[in-house]
Amino acid sequence: MIYYWSFNFHFSMDILQTLTIKYLAGTLMKLNEFNRLTELPDNMEQMPVLFLGHGSPINAIDDNEFSRKWKEIGKTLPTPKAILCISAHWETKGTFVTAMQKPVTIHDFGGFPQELFDFQYPAPGSPELAEETKTIITKTEVGLDEKWGLDHGCWILLKHLYPNADVPVIEFSLNYDHPPQFHYELARDLSSLRKKGVLIIGSGNMVHNLGMVAWEKLNSEEYGYNWAIEANEKMKKYILSNDHKQLINFKSQGKAYNLAIPTPEHYMPLLYTLALKEENEEVTIFNDKIVGGSLSMTSLRIDNN
Ligand code: ZN
Repeated sequence: MIYYWSFNFHFSMDILQTLTIKYLAGTLMKLNEFNRLTELPDNMEQMPVLFLGHGSPINAIDDNEFSRKWKEIGKTLPTPKAILCISAHWETKGTFVTAMQKPVTIHDFGGFPQELFDFQYPAPGSPELAEETKTIITKTEVGLDEKWGLDHGCWILLKHLYPNADVPVIEFSLNYDHPPQFHYELARDLSSLRKKGVLIIGSGNMVHNLGMVAWEKLNSEEYGYNWAIEANEKMKKYILSNDHKQLINFKSQGKAYNLAIPTPEHYMPLLYTLALKEENEEVTIFNDKIVGGSLSMTSLRIDNN
């Protein structure tokens, strides 16, 4: 018995050693894979960065000019090695990144067709990218989150951008305890990821006042209240003249801005995107329309063309 036990023990030790070696090799392979994955094509210095107005969750299943544009972006941008999405719909005390292998699809809305609640976006996560993001951020402590997943601010866009759900995605939370300037500075820490093939997407809406939405006109063509048009135009002017200071100080921009940004969570991802703009880069504006009176779909792509 002792012999067999001993034999089994040694046998188990052998298995244990083999498993340990395999595990270490696996981890190493994962890291190598991530390094290899984050090599950009020779002709590209860094990935573009996007701010996308996501609008209604219905855009996930609707074929309209906005969703068609998202599809087009997915086909024309170089395929990213991974995606980091700053979503208006993940506000936290503290700053977090999702770090799970398989993020769940979160259906964080109500009153929409069952098809939307049934939809799954099974993109893998990237614990490696989460770890790297935590490491490169010096502005604040970043926690690794295992509980969140992909909220609709993220997946209604990705469903069109990358319908095969084959690009790893992590989400980055918005810390509601800090002012706009903090978020703008924090975003700068993310810039090195662009050089590693990571597509950074800010997902929100520049003008976003749900309390004043003209629901009966939400699914019709362009319709904006005067104050929404005014705020949207002024924001674009500041964006195109690189006057980020005025955009950071959005609370002192007057009545139209106050109506356009009653709460900051849908506007803040815009600041993340703008903070990542380098001097030699251009801003391209698209989906520049106001819907339902009080939501602008205005979106940006930043790159050096
Ligand atoms: Zn939203």
